[in-house]
Amino acid sequence: MTEISERIQRLRHDIQRAALKYGRDPGSVRLLAVSKTKPPEAILAAYAAGQRLFGENYLQEALDKMTGLAALDIEWHFIGRIQSNKTRLIAESFSWVHGIDDIRQARRLSEQRPEKSPPLNLCLQINLSGEASKGGIEPEAAMDLAHEITALPRIALRGLMALPAPEADFEQQRAPFRRLRQLLEKLQSQGLKLDTLSMGMSDDLEAAIAEGASILRIGTALFGPR
Ligand SMILES: *Cc1c(COP(=O)(O)O)cnc(C)c1O
Repeated sequence: MTEISERIQRLRHDIQRAALKYGRDPGSVRLLAVSKTKPPEAILAAYAAGQRLFGENYLQEALDKMTGLAALDIEWHFIGRIQSNKTRLIAESFSWVHGIDDIRQARRLSEQRPEKSPPLNLCLQINLSGEASKGGIEPEAAMDLAHEITALPRIALRGLMALPAPEADFEQQRAPFRRLRQLLEKLQSQGLKLDTLSMGMSDDLEAAIAEGASILRIGTALFGPR
């Protein structure tokens, strides 16, 4: 077995164990392999081990890899910062965009999503306190933005995404994930049909699963250090 396939087996095992520990269906937690800066060979190795969801941060790098790997049945997720002059290529090439924090981005993606493609899946990025990245909207602004985005054609608003600052302590990892889950529940109670919490990375996946993560975004623990 290659190193990458061993790491995937271990991750699947860790995910399953954490899911069962917190009373969740292991099938409700999806693993997004974050392949930024990694060569196509690394993606191929993960694919050979059964991995199908891949996340990329840098548009040009992602497009180059997609071209080379076009024959594979991969679901591509864009998880990087969105530059407004690059939305067309994102709308044309990806299945999901995590990290929407602006109605103009969402409108452009909606207008630029090809008619023949299925709706583009989006997650709103929420800026919880102590966020590692500066992206994301304040939790208080989520309701209005979510309602506006839901009205757009060719877009499927699926849920929320967050990127909390790294914490070593389990309970401290868990706190922001809990707030994101509670915010999702609040939006759901307002009638929004959302089903996704994109949260949890290599070092805090158990805390994220404990609080209801549905997509874990994992790079290092799968592909090794960047
Ligand atoms: C790079 C990245 C990840 C993966 O981080 P690791 O620590 O390598 O698991 C997850 N989410 C986002 C938004 C990223 O940019």
